[in-house]
Amino acid sequence: MKDLTLKQLTDLVMQQAREKGFGTSKKDINVPEKIALLHSEVSEAYEAYRHKKMKGKGGFGEELGDILQRLLHLAAVLDIDLEKSALKKIKSNKKRNWNWKNLNESHR
Ligand SMILES: [Mg+2]
Repeated sequence: MKDLTLKQLTDLVMQQAREKGFGTSKKDINVPEKIALLHSEVSEAYEAYRHKKMKGKGGFGEELGDILQRLLHLAAVLDIDLEKSALKKIKSNKKRNWNWKNLNESHR
């Protein structure tokens, strides 16, 4: 499988959620716990990158995949249209300016 749409990928994630018992409705899951687990995957990605482990088991690519799966799962369970949310934010960011002098963040 390759070149899936976000919807097709979400369908696969939800199919696995049904099969593995990860929850498919809000009453099945603990939302704060799912947010914490999403965050833990972000931390795993950071650690993989930090240790220059980009590929393979526990590598940066795999951890980014974990993040995407957890994000798609949480959004689907809560009936959030991620595509719509992302497009809306991309549009609003076009008009937004950041004051980099006041931020301790890398940019160019
Ligand atoms: Mg992981």
